[in-house]
Amino acid sequence: MFVDCIEQGPIRPPSEAASLLLRVTRHCPWNRCEFCHIYRGRRFEPRKAEEVKRDIDTLRDLASRIRDLSLQRGFGGTIHAALARHLGDTPRPYPEGARNLLFWMAGGARNVFLQDADNLALKTEKLVDILRYLRDAFPTVERITTYARSATLARKSPEELAALREAGLSRIHTGMESGCDTILARVQKGVTARVLIDAGRKVKQAGLGLSEYVMPGLGGKALTREHALETARALNEIDPDFIRVRPLKVLSTMPLFRRVESGEMELLGDDGILAEERLLIGHLDRFTGRLESDHVLNLLEEVEGRFPAARRPVLALIDRYLALPEGERAHFRLGRRTGFYRRLADRENPVLRAEVAAILRRVESGDPGGLDLYLSRQTESFI
Ligand code: SF4
Repeated sequence: MFVDCIEQGPIRPPSEAASLLLRVTRHCPWNRCEFCHIYRGRRFEPRKAEEVKRDIDTLRDLASRIRDLSLQRGFGGTIHAALARHLGDTPRPYPEGARNLLFWMAGGARNVFLQDADNLALKTEKLVDILRYLRDAFPTVERITTYARSATLARKSPEELAALREAGLSRIHTGMESGCDTILARVQKGVTARVLIDAGRKVKQAGLGLSEYVMPGLGGKALTREHALETARALNEIDPDFIRVRPLKVLSTMPLFRRVESGEMELLGDDGILAEERLLIGHLDRFTGRLESDHVLNLLEEVEGRFPAARRPVLALIDRYLALPEGERAHFRLGRRTGFYRRLADRENPVLRAEVAAILRRVESGDPGGLDLYLSRQTESFI
């Protein structure tokens, strides 16, 4: 939920789409992962506590004006989405971002996501101070989450993590990407599997929620098996609340692109990535949280559910896709990447099917790179 009258960072996890975003630091203190281009060329900077508090004050004042508007326009103080149409007809104009803040309030003003990549790099007391200030300004807030690097989490003491939880921090989103040391070193993740596991366990022991992001495809064809098995092993040891699947997509702006161009790394296609996911999921035998495929890069977003109950149906779904004839898999991939399909069964809708078949004919007859190149271009806009 971007509110443009305060400073905002570039990204948030897909699961925080409806959360209010509050920028606490700028960019990433590591900035070397070869599959990541978000903060390239930008230096990490903690924001001053006063700056962040000024943004919280701006939001609180704006929220108070929105509540006044509700009273003036006969909504009795209730924040309803319909109130948004009154924002433009007041003597004192509202900033653009008021609309998004209003929608957040209408949804209960419950969730906040702190940007950017590694807020636990701040001194714990400073982050505790900001969290308390935020909770005081918005007492309805129930969940505050942030990204954090495992290397940073590993340096925090259990007492520091407990202090953050008590001040209101609820959940950490962290990028594991792989549990395979060879891959972690190759993509310059800056941590070993041991550090990832210890950091994840420490977060859970402190009573904080934990989302671990994994990146199918990151080992390329050569390391697909090691990637799947060692990532499953690390996840079993941590047993996070969420595993979030975010398949590799290499853009020319990423350092990894050079390895692919030179032939040093051979990428898996959609089907290879799903076969790898199948192997990983098949070995998640101690995971009791939720698996989510909530990034648009996932070909099968239905690969989700609470484990262990969801493991069998999820594997069956992947098997159903992989058992389709090649032409049918190509048809589904195109339908999914062009936004016509979300679920595997959407192929059975005759109207959607005809649309996708028409695009497929056009691509096959006109695009010199064929379907794979077309699909690759489609997914470039997803990140
Ligand atoms: S730690 Fe995260 S934000 Fe920083 S470079 Fe790696 S993937 Fe990108």
